[in-house]
Amino acid sequence: MSSCLNPVALKEGALRELESKTPHESLVAAKNDGHAKRKPIRCGLTIHPGTGCPLQCTYCYIYDMGFGTHPTPYPLRGEQLVAALLYNKYFYPTKWGTYLAFGSVTEPLLPPIVSRTLEYLKAISKHLGNPCQIATKMPVNDETLDELASLKGLKLSVLVTVTSLHQYRFLEPKAPDPYLRLDAINRLQKRGFIPFLFLRPVLPGLSEEEVDDIVNEAKAAGAYGIVASALRLSPRILKGLMKRGVKAEILERHVKAVAREGFTYVEEGDVLALIRRRALEKGLVFLKRACCASTVAQYLSGTEEAACPNLCFLSRRACDASCPSRCRFKAKGEPRHLDAEQTIMALLQSSRFRIEIREGTVHVKVKAGSPREGLKLKAWISSYLLRRRVLISYAG
Ligand code: SF4
Ligand code: SF4
Repeated sequence: MSSCLNPVALKEGALRELESKTPHESLVAAKNDGHAKRKPIRCGLTIHPGTGCPLQCTYCYIYDMGFGTHPTPYPLRGEQLVAALLYNKYFYPTKWGTYLAFGSVTEPLLPPIVSRTLEYLKAISKHLGNPCQIATKMPVNDETLDELASLKGLKLSVLVTVTSLHQYRFLEPKAPDPYLRLDAINRLQKRGFIPFLFLRPVLPGLSEEEVDDIVNEAKAAGAYGIVASALRLSPRILKGLMKRGVKAEILERHVKAVAREGFTYVEEGDVLALIRRRALEKGLVFLKRACCASTVAQYLSGTEEAACPNLCFLSRRACDASCPSRCRFKAKGEPRHLDAEQTIMALLQSSRFRIEIREGTVHVKVKAGSPREGLKLKAWISSYLLRRRVLISYAG
């Protein structure tokens, strides 16, 4: 798909085409599926190629969400997933559209799930062209890597999770050896991917020695950088981590919040700062969010205007100086990747508006008498697509 084509018009065309070729009952299943309804979260819209995971990492939250240990491929087929996404009011296609994040309620490259993951990625690559990201702990085999590398039209971002080299047997008792995961980083890098080591969650009390070892190994394996982020602590996870000897004094500080809220995030500021320092000393990029790794993968693959669609860069504290993407700088001027006026017109389905772009903010004044419905959602969508703050107001 060409970047200059309008994602709003493409969405309508792609859905019409798919509807003309797909049996009615398949479309009904797609329309009723969760992928047709849920809103993107920060890392993107989550894609479930399966549910459940047998690896039972101590810090994993999927068991709190009601998912079990038996991995089951998701029932939708590839083209149905595409249809479901096209039915979703929050979703738009193309590389300027919605970021798609694989792996939120399963491990997407587990043997029973991997073929569904590939099927979904192929269908997305053929029909939609959105930025996709996989987070995995599996030591992917070469055949799968070659298939992933052959997907056209996707700038696939791959995050390889390593949370500990010395304690992983306690914390991730059934997951593959982290050194096999590091080897996967190496083979990804050799195939032209921009792999990041995903240090999530950063576990309370991660020692300086561990941090040094993880960063050194990430560098040696060929990672482009490290994405490190917080631990989501629920009562069940808290209990599991305490049982396995993770710094009780740190965890105890959060017991009340977990009991009160049901869960809390534990962000170890000092450990994060140490990881960042060591990563930069080694010439690695340090990021705090998975979506940023996807943006960096696109940027380094030639999409110069790539910028995080949820505009996290508007907060100065959100970006790390080591990130090459410089989204904030790019978003200062007029959008060059899409025609702002055409995009707004397609969303509003009207030409009764005026548009003015000042210091990277798109101000849209809708003329009196135009429909008011859904303006909030349309402002959110246009801001996502244009990578700019969009303010829509009603004149009169
Ligand atoms: S591999 Fe991922 S999905 Fe599976 S248990 Fe571990 S954290 Fe959860
Ligand atoms: S510049 Fe900031 S928002 Fe953009 S990818 Fe880098 S860290 Fe993320």
